[in-house]
Amino acid sequence: DVWKEMKRLRVEQVVFCQEEAAGLQAVIAIHSTKLGPALGGCRMWTYASENDAVADAVRLARGMTYKSAFFGLPYGGGKAVIVGNPAADKSEDKFRALGRFIERLQGRYITGVDLGTTVRDMDWIRQETAYVTDTTGTIMATGDFTAEMTAYGVFLGMKASADYLLGSGDLAGRTVAVQGLGKVGYLLCGMLRDAGAQLVVADIDDARAEKAVKAYHARVVAPDAIYGENCDIFAPCALGGVLNDDTIPKLRCAIVAGAANNQLQEEIRHGEDLEQRGILYAPDYVLNAGGIIITACELQGVSVPDMKRSVERIYGLLQKVYRYARQEGVPTWLAANLMAEEELQRP
Ligand code: NAD
Repeated sequence: DVWKEMKRLRVEQVVFCQEEAAGLQAVIAIHSTKLGPALGGCRMWTYASENDAVADAVRLARGMTYKSAFFGLPYGGGKAVIVGNPAADKSEDKFRALGRFIERLQGRYITGVDLGTTVRDMDWIRQETAYVTDTTGTIMATGDFTAEMTAYGVFLGMKASADYLLGSGDLAGRTVAVQGLGKVGYLLCGMLRDAGAQLVVADIDDARAEKAVKAYHARVVAPDAIYGENCDIFAPCALGGVLNDDTIPKLRCAIVAGAANNQLQEEIRHGEDLEQRGILYAPDYVLNAGGIIITACELQGVSVPDMKRSVERIYGLLQKVYRYARQEGVPTWLAANLMAEEELQRP
């Protein structure tokens, strides 16, 4: 029930987009524009149903609102999802059609790259509207800086978590289990290795795992085995929903701190489960905000050194989340949401 879900998550606007000639079926969810234009990428995915596409757009848009509000960025939260197979169903017409829908929103929503979309797709959207980031020539499109800053934020978040829970932010000699060695996970491994941490890694792509073994002397385990590794920190850097009924009982870590979005399959239930087991959960959107911070900085013309300093706020703000959680007796994911809500409620 879309209306019910919109009410529950306090969503401002959902735009259903269809252009038959271009084969476009998409949803743009604008969760909030209270703090500024709704910023959030465009995902392309083979959703099982239209309802699933709407639900995903709305949930992701809300996550973007919280992420920007938490860091005091002058942006709201939004997300676009295109229904279709990114490997087979892309065309210039389709993305330009979406660009026209975005243009009609007159700046209420700014899109960018997300799962299943690329810089080329954003260039197509740019033909129709200026409300798009991650086009050719932007930071996202040139090199690994965005992924590097995301990894850097996660690394700092790990240090802040270790400092809070274990009494020292020094990761030398600590064991970190990294799930997923993609753009972020691999760069994160390099930072951890430089800090003297021991690495255990898993990826469904054997070549990526082998690369980490060669470069960082990591120990590789099978994808299913990473949950049960005895470690100080478990870092989900692949998919969402990985903290669930099946995996949480297997965990043998003190801290969960990683880059993946929506790690808790169900916030309340699985957040509580981790809490009861004495595992410190670093809220994902606080840790992985490096990417959005860079995008927001770029939109505002901030210099690269200042961008890096902005990302470094993750350390102090995460510790603030932990202190807030302890004082209020609430789980860490809720403490982060409450801090974001406070920003949103500010007159
Ligand atoms: P990516 O696609 O480059 O890498 C993902 C990696 O995970 C791949 O190597 C893939 O083979 C591996 N993988 C997939 N399923 C797996 C499984 N079951 N077990 C082990 N490995 C598996 O993605 P990325 O850009 O590195 O992002 C990683 C996560 O961080 C994603 O959840 C993404 O949403 C999130 N994130 C990324 C950024 C960014 O700047 N790239 C910013 C914020 C959040």
